[in-house]
Amino acid sequence: MSQLLLEKAKTLEPRNPNKSTGLFGGKSSGILNWNDIAYPHWYKMYKRLVGNYWQADEVNMSSDIKQFPTLTKAEKDAYLKIIGLLSTLDAPQTRIALLISLYASDPSVQSIMAVIAQQEAVHNESYSYVLSSVVSLDEQNEAFELGRKDPVLLKRNQHIMEQYNGFVEEPTIENILKTMVYTALLEGMFFYSGFAFFYHLARHNKMVGTSTMVSYINRDELEHGRFISELFRATLAEHPEQNNEKLTNWVYDHFKESVALETEWSHYVLADVAGIDFVEMEGYIKYRANKMLRMLGLQEIYPEHVQNPMKWIHAYVDNFDGTKTDFFEQKSRQYTKTSDLNGFDDL
Ligand code: ZN
Ligand code: ZN
Repeated sequence: MSQLLLEKAKTLEPRNPNKSTGLFGGKSSGILNWNDIAYPHWYKMYKRLVGNYWQADEVNMSSDIKQFPTLTKAEKDAYLKIIGLLSTLDAPQTRIALLISLYASDPSVQSIMAVIAQQEAVHNESYSYVLSSVVSLDEQNEAFELGRKDPVLLKRNQHIMEQYNGFVEEPTIENILKTMVYTALLEGMFFYSGFAFFYHLARHNKMVGTSTMVSYINRDELEHGRFISELFRATLAEHPEQNNEKLTNWVYDHFKESVALETEWSHYVLADVAGIDFVEMEGYIKYRANKMLRMLGLQEIYPEHVQNPMKWIHAYVDNFDGTKTDFFEQKSRQYTKTSDLNGFDDL
């Protein structure tokens, strides 16, 4: 069963019902009525995602342009390397959202993935946007080459790449579940030491424009992580034969390995940046891993890091409920409507 290759979902098949009979490998006409979907609460997810709409050039970079030359060399290097890293994570996310969508036989999943893919495209654009504000084209290109050349970065991304490309080669239910696990790791953990670096700068009144943009990306990624873990649990419930110890152990093993790689990466990229607390950073990475495991329906593996050790970060990524104004106050957002749908409750 697990070796069966999934077929791509039909685009329009009037003989099938509108309400899907299954998330992957099910039947649906392709017609979507949000008021009659298999997982009704996903409509709220869709609304929250769409409500978060933003564009890179809404963020004012003028103070960052002046400030970048005054950063220390270590800060500049880390800034460029981390933007390079983030671009290697967001580029495949644009594509993986499409791939999941192609095999999803539920049109509500296809629509949610379309919105996620659009946001990943904006994230990628935003990296070009901030880099073009602060460095020359040569230096921009160098930052974007890191994902192809930097050995620590390549090692760090090796298993993501293998899993994502493996899914393209062999679209089985098992591979789609494992791809969702890596997507949860990306959306919920891999980005976060990089995000924390920009918040660290902002905390010292440096590069606040960049950090504002990063916090928009962060908010999107939290939503993506939330949806992908819901999709994982629902897919697993529809395919109980996959819900076994082998998969569970695979998830734990890959989480542990990912935490080790992320910690190694953060030491490598932030070693010379003044004021970074690596004990706190490792705790934060483990806290994020625990969080994502819980969201996937599994157990925490770092019992000493159930609470967020990086409390100060709340000012930047917490409280996205449309009423808190601390960090977001600096810019009025034109698109987000205050409604009861766009609140975070589980950071
Ligand atoms: Zn992204
Ligand atoms: Zn994402």
